Amino acid sequence: MESNQVLNFDALVVGGGIAGLQAAIDLADQNFKVAVVEKDASIGGKMIRLSKVFPTLDCSSCITTPKMAEAAHHENITLFTCCDLSSLKRNGKDITAVVTQRPRYVDQEKCIGCRRCEYRCPVYVSDKEQGEFSARKAVYIPFSNAIPQIALIDVEHCMLCGKCEKVCPTEAINYFQKPIDFTIKAKTAILATGFELSPVENKQQYGMGKIPNVIDALQMERLLAPHGPYNRVLRPSDGMEPDSIAYVQCAGSRDKSMGVSYCSRVCCMYAIKQAMLLSGSLPLADIIIYYMDIRAFGKGYEQFYQNAKAMGIEFVRAKVATIDAGENGSVTVRYEAQDGEGVTTSDHDLVVLSMGIIPGWNPEGVCPVSASTDRFIKTIQPKISPTLTDMEGVFTAGVAAGPKDIVDTITEAGAAAMEASKYLSEIHRDHAA
Ligand SMILES: Cc1cc2nc3c(=O)[nH]c(=O)nc-3n(C[C@H](O)[C@H](O)[C@H](O)COP(=O)(O)OP(=O)(O)OC[C@H]3O[C@@H](n4cnc5c(N)ncnc54)[C@H](O)[C@@H]3O)c2cc1C
Repeated sequence: MESNQVLNFDALVVGGGIAGLQAAIDLADQNFKVAVVEKDASIGGKMIRLSKVFPTLDCSSCITTPKMAEAAHHENITLFTCCDLSSLKRNGKDITAVVTQRPRYVDQEKCIGCRRCEYRCPVYVSDKEQGEFSARKAVYIPFSNAIPQIALIDVEHCMLCGKCEKVCPTEAINYFQKPIDFTIKAKTAILATGFELSPVENKQQYGMGKIPNVIDALQMERLLAPHGPYNRVLRPSDGMEPDSIAYVQCAGSRDKSMGVSYCSRVCCMYAIKQAMLLSGSLPLADIIIYYMDIRAFGKGYEQFYQNAKAMGIEFVRAKVATIDAGENGSVTVRYEAQDGEGVTTSDHDLVVLSMGIIPGWNPEGVCPVSASTDRFIKTIQPKISPTLTDMEGVFTAGVAAGPKDIVDTITEAGAAAMEASKYLSEIHRDHAA
């Protein structure tokens, strides 16, 4: 692709997580031409990074990879990865998006994903994709089932030794690549920009980032994943198998001091899921969930919770006050139990913070679509048309509009695609008249 190109599509989908992919596939199946713009180097969003999913405990990547492949191979879908959205505006009947593709320093057309560059690269960098528990190279493919299977160079850590260039069989390495600005014109857009975890490092008393054996729930997803960093659950500080694991619920949700006063909806369920998976992989470990109240909101979810209790997972109704480093890598949790025992402390080998969910994207200054007071994209008819935004022809799906599980995300993505398809049909009818 060259700079300043204008590309025409029927629909633009911003975000290549499960919401964006489902919406894109539904539109493409109706013969609309769809552009998917994703900021990361691979599509798949958070779901491809999960271990197994509640309530069925299906392998997450086994469900997500076929969707990613379907989107990548669909003749009506074009994927744009490593892309930043600079602006998304309406110009008359068109939606115009200005996009900047960051350089991979690897030619997309030439790279065959053979990974020889990665094997040859001498630089090791902490791997965020594996919860920072293992390392990747400075030239790398983000993860084993990433789509597209195209390498990229992490310029912050590359030493320009030239070894990748020498070993590349297709001469794909290009240290001189520049960012490419291009414009996408479409008639409709779906915003599926998803979420990030709430910044619990700001809550100093929970020790995140300071105590090695305090981790977040996405890091635990990686420890539990079949292709995770250790292939088993070990605590990060010393590689010991943890005998006692605690979950701290609402660590970054329902907490006004962090600016996240709402419930993030999925944390109770993912903590219960992870606790069940842990009791499978570490049958002798004690697993305790400190919670304020359990919100098992979906179909079959209450039964899932009851199953966890029957498996021996301990639920302690308490508000955790502080988390401190104890002796020999242990972690001390200080909490106020709601059963009248008052303030108590307990030591654990590993503590997992069930962190809340905040929006993955702030439209301010980029797109005139409004956000709600909780900063998720505002939906103007939440009851009867939950995907409608206040910008004509622009819809939203998934966690971009508020915290939700995968079932609701997929349903909403289908609804957003339907609204977009209806909008496109109306435009075509007006044109024909
Ligand atoms: C620890 C944890 C465990 C979970 N486990 C489960 C479970 O077992 N079962 C379940 O039902 N749910 C679970 N969930 C919830 C599930 O992850 C979400 O429902 C689902 O991932 C939402 O998908 P999404 O596409 O809306 O968002 P995301 O997965 O966040 O995807 C959004 C995509 O948009 C991209 N993006 C963001 N901004 C931009 C931009 N400006 N330009 C371009 N691209 C952009 C992002 O890079 C990302 O790829 C879990 C959540 C967590 C945190």
